[in-house]
Amino acid sequence: MKSLKHIFLIVFIIYSNNFFSSEEDKSFQEQSMLSVLFVQTSAEFAANNIQTYANASKALDIALNDKSWSAALEQIDDFQDKQPAIIIDVDETVLDNSNFQSRTILSGLSYPNGWKEWVNEAKAGEVAGVRDFLYLAEEKGVAIYYLTNRLESLREGTIKNLINLGLPFDKNKNMLLMRKEENSRDKTERRKHIANKNRILLVIGDQLTDFISTDEAYIYHKERKKLAEKYSEMWGTKWFLITNPTYGRWELSIYEDFPESEEEAIEIRKDTLVP
Ligand SMILES: [Mg+2]
Repeated sequence: MKSLKHIFLIVFIIYSNNFFSSEEDKSFQEQSMLSVLFVQTSAEFAANNIQTYANASKALDIALNDKSWSAALEQIDDFQDKQPAIIIDVDETVLDNSNFQSRTILSGLSYPNGWKEWVNEAKAGEVAGVRDFLYLAEEKGVAIYYLTNRLESLREGTIKNLINLGLPFDKNKNMLLMRKEENSRDKTERRKHIANKNRILLVIGDQLTDFISTDEAYIYHKERKKLAEKYSEMWGTKWFLITNPTYGRWELSIYEDFPESEEEAIEIRKDTLVP
């Protein structure tokens, strides 16, 4: 059997080359329609995010008052008196890109088609609940680090979007850490970098890799699911997860053997269903 890393790499390349997408046949992209509608129209999704950020706000106080507290696995020692900070992902954690997801369904063309243009429009909305949480953190003197896998080339559009929304952002501070190269998706080193100068109070994201390394998270779904349990003491205390049903590494973890066509991908999806 091919190694999973190899498979993921190939799947990634397939997706990058937009192998599955076409303007004529939109059926593959249309498979994500209900998840995008859930994000865009349901009160349940908004309520869930408000709930998550309300709980994160409560945890902020506890974390601030306990100097032995750190939420980063990368933070090892001598952090008690460092500047308190939070690490927060951007896409689907702060910014809501469901308009872009809608475009992929309507056009039949998937990411990365149109992504750069969408980012530079700087029109993404905000995830429900995030504004109050970020302002609370700022008010309490907690440093905010936006840690994203958007590429460096998208820095300007990303900052513009955050500022357009009126979310906390200071151009004079190093608040936005981006992805340097196409294949440097692992956030571990960047978390370590932030933890060198700060005590990390909370980590917030929508992907497992916002909290742990890609090595640990890029595995087949049956093993991957056990990671939720492994870190059960972190969820809801130090780590807060925004649900993202529309895309993410969870989907690639379904494919033990990489699909060579969209038909095969749909077959694997069906085979993975447990009736
Ligand atoms: Mg994200």
